[in-house]
Amino acid sequence: MIARALTSLERFLLPNACIVCRSLMPPQDPDGLVCPVCCTRARPVVGGCERCHQPLPPIGPCRFCAGWSGAIAWARSGYWLGVMTRTVVHHLKYEDCPCLGGLIAELMVSTIPRPDTGWLVPIPVGARRKRQRGYNQSESIAHSLGRLWQMPVATSVLHRARETKTQTALTPEARLANVAGAFAAAEAPSVIRAPGSRVRQAILVDDVLTTGATLDAAASALASAGWRAVGAVTFARAMPFQARVLVGLP
Ligand SMILES: [Zn+2]
Ligand SMILES: [Zn+2]
Repeated sequence: MIARALTSLERFLLPNACIVCRSLMPPQDPDGLVCPVCCTRARPVVGGCERCHQPLPPIGPCRFCAGWSGAIAWARSGYWLGVMTRTVVHHLKYEDCPCLGGLIAELMVSTIPRPDTGWLVPIPVGARRKRQRGYNQSESIAHSLGRLWQMPVATSVLHRARETKTQTALTPEARLANVAGAFAAAEAPSVIRAPGSRVRQAILVDDVLTTGATLDAAASALASAGWRAVGAVTFARAMPFQARVLVGLP
């Protein structure tokens, strides 16, 4: 709490510095948090798999989404998780910067095509984490995406059925077990008036896609509640070693 107050005071007293490279923000965007140079440093995910958009291996089908249940129809991520994206997500989640949801959404719409129709559904956080943080970071992103894409946001259809451990240090198998049954969804109304359509389609919104276990668990809850064709969009995607080689990153 004291650290947050000091950060706010520092921002008030000193010229704003980019949270990624610490250089001063340009005069045309004095209140911004990320400088234009750092914004261009994020590497877009240019995918190969039709379903998950992961670059395909040299031989054979995509292995990244092979273990997902059928609940997720498609997934798109804006950028690979790197220095810039990791710092921005860290500040959004742990440094009391919900306004970064706006910048993240702007960056996402420049690389992810607007879905035809559906409701944006942010991945909920547990009640304890939301109390500590004061907001849900995925909700901040979803509301900004909704404004930019002109799509409705549904914040009350999906909730956490139980608290889960943080996924960061878990193996892929442990991640699956950690989030299994972690979500519950409200039943989809028989007719949802999404702009231009009546399809009961949900598009999950999250900050980072690592293995897809969280999105899969959330999509399964929505599918069992009658939602159809669940898609997912995330700002960043963790890069497995194989994908790093394919896109030529160190
Ligand atoms: Zn910068
Ligand atoms: Zn795939």
